[in-house]
Amino acid sequence: MIPKKSFPPGTHLDTLAVREGLPPSPWGENSEAIFLTSCFVHPDAATAARRFANEEDAFVYSRFSNPNVTIMERRLAALEGTSGCIGTSSGMGAILLMFMGLLKAGDHVICSRSVFGATIKLLQGEFGKFGVESTFVSQTDVAEWKDAVRPNTKLLFAETPTNPTCEVCDIQALADIAHEAGALLAVDNCLCSPALQQPVKFGADIVMHSGTKFLDGQGRVNAGALCADEALINEKFVPVMRSAGMSLSPFNAWVVAKGLETLGVRVMAQSVNALALAQWLEAHPAVERVYHPGLASHPQHELAMRQQNGVGGAVLSFDVKGGLDARKAAFAVIDATRLCSIAANFGDVRSIITHPASTTHGRLTEAQRQAAGIGQGMIRLGVGLEHVDDIRADLDRGLSGLSR
Ligand SMILES: *Cc1c(COP(=O)(O)O)cnc(C)c1O
Repeated sequence: MIPKKSFPPGTHLDTLAVREGLPPSPWGENSEAIFLTSCFVHPDAATAARRFANEEDAFVYSRFSNPNVTIMERRLAALEGTSGCIGTSSGMGAILLMFMGLLKAGDHVICSRSVFGATIKLLQGEFGKFGVESTFVSQTDVAEWKDAVRPNTKLLFAETPTNPTCEVCDIQALADIAHEAGALLAVDNCLCSPALQQPVKFGADIVMHSGTKFLDGQGRVNAGALCADEALINEKFVPVMRSAGMSLSPFNAWVVAKGLETLGVRVMAQSVNALALAQWLEAHPAVERVYHPGLASHPQHELAMRQQNGVGGAVLSFDVKGGLDARKAAFAVIDATRLCSIAANFGDVRSIITHPASTTHGRLTEAQRQAAGIGQGMIRLGVGLEHVDDIRADLDRGLSGLSR
């Protein structure tokens, strides 16, 4: 009932990014209209009944079905190479939906120690409260993941590269461990986006997104999504969405769908800027260490290049040399910027500078932070589309103050 667009076999991702979605309405609009409607009208009561019972595919109620959300879902699924996708209110909403759909009390999850702070909180705190067991392991040590498998392990969850330390995990190796254990592998693909990395190509079952980052790409909305086989989405996630309502709003879906049209060019251009800055920072006397998968010095450089289409991505972090008071040194560098936005986001066309230890990862204990490799001297930069010389000058103002 809900029509699909069709494309010749072999249509490229760049084309699908701007063309996949829904056919236009009877008015023939070229740019997608925004369907700000909470419900949809049916021709008669019997049709309404069939649609509510899922016997007929149609838009029903925007908590779980809306044209703008469908457009975003189809476009993102095309880019990730999955048959299905479900949009959510935020990236955390997507992880919540995934855990609710797949787990029950007594189940076990293996998760990297270096994932997004809120992910650790949600799994260990909220789902721990409901009896879901979790083990946190090293991002890069495959043997630790394997050793953590238990008979009740249902899900392996990794983020690659991680935010903010840019550690890369071997997706194929983790997929093999998951499948041998009869579990699923989910990958948080926020840092790369499908423009660089498609985790299902390496055996991942579920790809999780925060649409808030590169997918929107201009820092406007919160959004999220899970990409997977359509059968898995329909069986495990759509029913939870219907009852729990972590729904993506039609307007935000429209923003993200438009963002996806320029995803490829933005991420490539921002990644070029990021690599140039990472190389410059690595040679800076006030910098202790730089974290970026595109650097030859990155511990998993070769693996990253294989998984990420040869591109390091547009997020980097670095430790400033601070001696005893690393936090003070990091704050000085951040406060000396005039161009970069001091905020806690990335994936924006505007460069964003962040002190992870006191913001995104501020709710973790010091021990959890250390386990995740996040020191007080660490600064994260979500590199934008400004001229790279201007970003460099912005960082150098504070950094050269430190090295004097
Ligand atoms: C931002 C982020 C999330 C959470 O997404 P929200 O849209 O902010 O809820 C999850 N994982 C990673 C890696 C992120 O950077």
